[in-house]
Order: sequence, then structure tokens, then C-alpha cells
Amino acid sequence: MTEISQSQIERAIQTTCKTVLRNELYFSDLDGLAGDGDFGTSLATGYRVIQNDWNDIDKSNIGAMLLKISMLVSKHVGGSSGPIWGTGFMKAAMLSKGKEAVTLQELTDMLGSAIEGIQARGGAKLGDKTLLDALIPVHETLKGHCASANPDLGRALCDCADVAEKAIEETKTLVAHRGRASQVGERSAGTPDPGIVSIAVILNDWCKEFGVERTATAAEVLNQPA
Ligand SMILES: [Mg+2]
Repeated sequence: MTEISQSQIERAIQTTCKTVLRNELYFSDLDGLAGDGDFGTSLATGYRVIQNDWNDIDKSNIGAMLLKISMLVSKHVGGSSGPIWGTGFMKAAMLSKGKEAVTLQELTDMLGSAIEGIQARGGAKLGDKTLLDALIPVHETLKGHCASANPDLGRALCDCADVAEKAIEETKTLVAHRGRASQVGERSAGTPDPGIVSIAVILNDWCKEFGVERTATAAEVLNQPA
């Protein structure tokens, strides 16, 4: 059984904090192309609190930790992103309550539940040019790896980063129907969605953190602050 330990999940979250803080200005600049230009700052405000409060976060098990993180995200991530990302973490927390490790199938189910929660909360669906356009194909990719007799976690992570990166290009021509970018309608066509870019950049950084060899190709993943 392929398992993901709590310490691996902790490393992934700490890596995410660094990714979000490093990209604060870049993600806001991307949002400014079609939206109100607050995405990077909104996200960074919450993840900065997670980083600063890291030692005080309850780590008795994965579910307890993710629940605390969902509360910090809901409270401190600004704009429309706080309730969206907070709901995702809360749903994942509910499925990992009391666990100190999860199987790949359990992790996949946590993401599936997070996606359902985000959809219920924000009303977006596939093709609305929101972060769901990255998360849904990532979930499908994980399901494919779960079906394998002996799943390779590194390979699964690399494939997830690939589909998230592909989603940046595939959704560029779409007009946003949900989220803040929808308020400018047609102006969003031709611009990358910052939520989708953030997922692709986070997954690419997880590959680096866990020593998974991968070559990024999207400009949005390559051209970001060091
Ligand atoms: Mg915005």
C-alpha cells in the first residue's frame, strides 16, 4: 500500500507557503491582467499567517492539522479566495480526521471532496476558468494512478504537475464566468487564470521539494521569481 505520511503533507504545506509568498507580486500581476489584481496578496496574507503560526498549529494528526489550516485560510486569505481555499482544506480535513498517514486513494478522495466543496461554495464548474480547471484534471490523474497495482508517488506528482500546467494554456482563450475575473467578461480572454497558474506552480515546487525530476514548459511556471 502506497502511503503518504503526515510529515510529507507538512512539507508540502510548508513548501506551498514559500511558493505563495515568493509569488505574491507575480500572482497579483497576473490577476491584474483581467481581474482586480489582488490574488497574490490575498493568498500571501493567509499563507504568511500559516508560516508564522506553524509551530502552534495542532499536528496531532493530518485531519486536525488541515482543519486548523482551513480556519487560518478562511480567516486570513482575502477576497473571494479565502472561502474557496478554506472550504477545500476543510473538506480534506474531514476525510483525514485522526489519520497519521493516508493512502494514495485516501488522498485522492480528499481532493475529490475538496473539489465538491469548492464547487458548492463558488458555483463554478469545469471550463469556467477557475482553479477547478486545474484541480479536476489533477484529481482524474490521481484516480488513474490509484487504479495501478503499485502506484508510484513521484510519477503521480509529476503527472499532476503536467496536467495543471496544461490547464494554463487550455483555458487561456476562455472567458471567465466565475470568480472576480468574470466581472470584466471578455477582457479575461487571452490571459492566464491566476488560480490555475498558482496550482501549477505549487505542484511544480512540490516536485522540486520531493526530488521528482520534471521539466516545466509553461512560461507562467518558468518565469517567476527565484
Ligand atoms: Mg482578484
